[in-house]
Amino acid sequence: MERRLTMLAAGDATAAAAPNRTVKDAKHREELPGDTVRAEGASATGDAACDAAYDWLGVTFEFFDKSYGRNSIDGAGLPMISTVHYGQDYDNAFWNGEQMVYGDGDGTLFTAFTGPIDVTGHELTHGVTQYTAGLDYFGQSGALNESMSDVFGSLIKQYYKGQTADQADWLIGEGLLAASVHGVALRSMKEPGTAYDDPQLGKDPQPAHMDHFVRTSRDNGGVHINSGIPNRAFYLAAAEIGGNAWEKAGKVWYDTLTGGLSSDTDFAAFAAATVATATRLFSTGSAELTAVRNAWTGVGISS
Ligand SMILES: [Zn+2]
Repeated sequence: MERRLTMLAAGDATAAAAPNRTVKDAKHREELPGDTVRAEGASATGDAACDAAYDWLGVTFEFFDKSYGRNSIDGAGLPMISTVHYGQDYDNAFWNGEQMVYGDGDGTLFTAFTGPIDVTGHELTHGVTQYTAGLDYFGQSGALNESMSDVFGSLIKQYYKGQTADQADWLIGEGLLAASVHGVALRSMKEPGTAYDDPQLGKDPQPAHMDHFVRTSRDNGGVHINSGIPNRAFYLAAAEIGGNAWEKAGKVWYDTLTGGLSSDTDFAAFAAATVATATRLFSTGSAELTAVRNAWTGVGISS
């Protein structure tokens, strides 16, 4: 194996950032990574899961590059790998620390996890968080980790659809619930706790305000539950600022996430950090800073 002086080959330094995607097929086994079915630049395969995974990786790459100048998940051009058709009737998608993995859903509760673009955006943002703040996946820092994935997952969908904050549905996983399920999505950032209410799935357990913070040992201390609180704070900030949410509110959250946050950051510390970021980006007395302060007050968190 060659060992070079630097990572850069001649010319690389000036090359435009471009994705390096590989989609693999687990063929319904729970084994990774599976066989390569589509590499970067190859034409569509005709397999809906494979081609959606490829496209959503591309949109996610473009979103972070164009919006925040970030070159892939690690900021250094990390190749993006997705495995589709994972397991039998597998009801989830995940980032395993190195790559994306998607189940096809059981068809009774969930449809294919490659369907909604924000599911891919959510999972890949776990990678961005892993390479930056590394928020501990437990309690409030874990709920912030989940919230970052919902925030940028939703922003990636809004960017792809060309929607402003008031046009967006602010749902996570819209289209993922099977037709018989009583619900519209996995979560709602605008109205946490209202995404579903179903005999099989139960009721959406998310609080929208600190008054209803859930203390539990389940779900790593409620990481998918209490994320409703910072999710709604982001929605409130974006709605008050208006326009494309990824441009201002998203920039405040992105710079905060990637700006040296400690891994055990709690809600109040994160809120204070977004206020500091907004002050730096938009100055004291700006409407943007006021919107960020109001957002945290609106969910009962002192910033
Ligand atoms: Zn997650």
